[in-house]
Amino acid sequence: MAESAGRPAQEVDQFLSTLPKVIDHITSRHTDLHTLPTLATPSSISNTLSSLPRSLPEQGLGVEGTTSYLVNSILPGILQAQNGPRYYGFVVGGVTPAAQLADILSTSYDENVQVNLYQQTASVAVEQRALELVLDLLSIERKVFMGRTMTTGATSANVLGLACARDYLYANSPHLPQGYSYAQDGPPSSPTLPSPPIIVLSLYPHFSIQKAASLVGLGSSSRIIHSMPSQADDELAFDVYKLEERLEAEKQAGRGVIVVYGIGEVNTGGFGRGLGDVAELCKKYGAWLHVDAAFGGFAGLMPELAEYTKDMDKADSLTLDGHKWLNVPYDCGLFFTRHTSSLTTVFQPPSASAPAYLASSSASPQSAQPTGLAEAEGTVQAQDVPSPLYVGIENSRRFRALPLLASLLSLGKEGYRDIVTRNILFARKVATFINESPHYELLNPSPRASVGDQKTTSEDSGGLDIIPSNIVLFRGSSASPYPPSSPGSSTELTKAINDTRLLYVSATKWRGEGAVRIAVSNYLTDEARDLDIVLGVLGRLGRGERGVQGGGVSVIQSR
Ligand SMILES: *Cc1c(COP(=O)(O)O)cnc(C)c1O
Repeated sequence: MAESAGRPAQEVDQFLSTLPKVIDHITSRHTDLHTLPTLATPSSISNTLSSLPRSLPEQGLGVEGTTSYLVNSILPGILQAQNGPRYYGFVVGGVTPAAQLADILSTSYDENVQVNLYQQTASVAVEQRALELVLDLLSIERKVFMGRTMTTGATSANVLGLACARDYLYANSPHLPQGYSYAQDGPPSSPTLPSPPIIVLSLYPHFSIQKAASLVGLGSSSRIIHSMPSQADDELAFDVYKLEERLEAEKQAGRGVIVVYGIGEVNTGGFGRGLGDVAELCKKYGAWLHVDAAFGGFAGLMPELAEYTKDMDKADSLTLDGHKWLNVPYDCGLFFTRHTSSLTTVFQPPSASAPAYLASSSASPQSAQPTGLAEAEGTVQAQDVPSPLYVGIENSRRFRALPLLASLLSLGKEGYRDIVTRNILFARKVATFINESPHYELLNPSPRASVGDQKTTSEDSGGLDIIPSNIVLFRGSSASPYPPSSPGSSTELTKAINDTRLLYVSATKWRGEGAVRIAVSNYLTDEARDLDIVLGVLGRLGRGERGVQGGGVSVIQSR
């Protein structure tokens, strides 16, 4: 080592001697992920809490001491296998091997992907290409959504969508000068402007839509966000006649409308039909269509569900998540819009006010690099990618594109089709068990046993209902220890399931009543190994048998 080896050199030495221990830990977690209990035990959580430093020490512990402390005292008290094959809470996904390795590399470079300094770094172009590959995965033409960026998640992508919508609708309001900029001039004061000036029409919006509406200054109350009627035979589909009536009335009133269309309802995983019709109406009446397809947008990779997602390219703006079904690490959200100018109006200050040190080098664009390959229309060349800070909330940003690009490349379209299909088939097996069990009620059966055949109803599907996607929503039956008549029974059932630490599920409410929800979104979930474990736990609890507690796959019971 250099003679002048001071403190940083010691830290580097410690880093190098500690790194193999971290690799060992990651290796054993990776190998054991399918046998690890989903949750920490209550005692390990309390041990972690009592081991937390009470104050910042004057003398640091050093790299090695600190890392040992993390591995021995902190990590045992956090979720042990949220990225494992039987964690079915929320929609969490996991981390594909290529993504995990790339994320480690990304941290190692710690690059700030903020300004497009294309002559100094390719990172912004890498991010752009990763976004283009996501469009390829979904068979959406790249040129449709020329406004694209990576965010921290679907929530912030929804913020971007509503912010763009707000600016677009004010700029096109019949009560304001054409091109009015809310971003620059704030809320307008025109006496003829209706109150509220903009409303949101939706069916079952994800809670983050309310947050986004509040944040971008639309308001989040029910005066702003309206729940629209659904079709008589499809509660997840807009009643397009009612929607058209409403759009017509709002147009008469000169009010801006944002239609938020969810693909993949969070409780049921379901989709309504009719995105294409809704898109046409939005176009006809000048409404902005924001599609929140955080996880559901990927369900269409399974050919029989493709009809539900095929019109995503009609959206004015589109939200997707990378950290859910794409199985890349937190945090990773994706935002797309066809209105690039709305995006830059919101996030790019007039050039005079942009600090000079943030200027990109695009003043001297090089000619496009000859690649020798014909590229899809809408492919953006390195020097033309807008600086991320001008198309999103953050200035400083992580190089989160690297794990996304790695995962997409590693698996290819086929690999992702396989994950989505396996997850959905797994969920359907669980749903079939729930449906046939006297101890449970399935709450999200599909009336279409054969999706794609519009005529098929539950009567002519031989009673074998299936769920459309990757979520199973259910509750105990009156023949179970968790009867619907008993208040809180679904919460108790959820707790009993989760206490086994063999699998993890979420408690939720559906149609005002308690329910349990299994969302399958992890690439590791394996029918051959995990289905028996899941059905074993559900079977025993449904029959009122206890004692499956403890975690560890060695206690797997027969169904
Ligand atoms: C998960 C989800 C969100 C929120 O996404 P985050 O990535 O957690 O911010 C928004 N909308 C839908 C439909 C979701 O499923």
